[in-house]
Amino acid sequence: MAAMRRLRHMDDMNRVTAVAVYCGSRSGNDPAYRAAAQTLGEGLAQARIRLIYGGGGIGLMGVLADAVLAVGGEVAGVIPEFLTRREVAHGGNTELIVTDSMHSRKQRMFELADAFVSLPGGLGTLDETIEIITWRQLGLHNKPILICNTAGSAAPFLAAIEAAIVAGFAGPEVRQLYEVFEGPAAVLRRLRRLRPGPHAEAQRL
Ligand code: AMP
Repeated sequence: MAAMRRLRHMDDMNRVTAVAVYCGSRSGNDPAYRAAAQTLGEGLAQARIRLIYGGGGIGLMGVLADAVLAVGGEVAGVIPEFLTRREVAHGGNTELIVTDSMHSRKQRMFELADAFVSLPGGLGTLDETIEIITWRQLGLHNKPILICNTAGSAAPFLAAIEAAIVAGFAGPEVRQLYEVFEGPAAVLRRLRRLRPGPHAEAQRL
């Protein structure tokens, strides 16, 4: 038994065990968005990767968390107190962490995750995705950031970054800060191959 536990512990040090997913608190108007959240959630649970997310039970957030839980996976929801009612905190989370502000929510999600995945979403998702990329640009961390392009959802976001490069506000090296994948299956394949590297702990956030 102890030997099994030691083996599992060694295995866990060599793989991604927790991923923060940013996604919409609405479902969007293309069924492909829900399908992507569903597939990603099931795949995370099957790969024994814990889901760290915004804690809501609505929109893609709810689809994602339900999918993980349905396959017996682990979910940690991180939600600021003032949103517990508005975003209808998900009752089934394995763990619900209530923070005192949006800032502490983002920081906690950052700390708990080995890597980040961005699914389709609204302004909150865009904000979280660009912020985690910016923190990496500043050298505050070195954790992988995976963008899940779903039915072309990421195109405008990526175009905005390209526009910043063309306008001379960012260097072309910013393209190395994130990886873009076509759909959740490709994201899951990448997550299974990733080895958590030494990550700056973002103590200066
Ligand atoms: P949305 O993509 O707008 O549906 O939001 C997705 C998640 O991001 C929700 O859990 C929101 O609470 C969160 N969110 C919304 N606005 C912000 C913001 N300014 N900063 C960080 N998170 C946000």
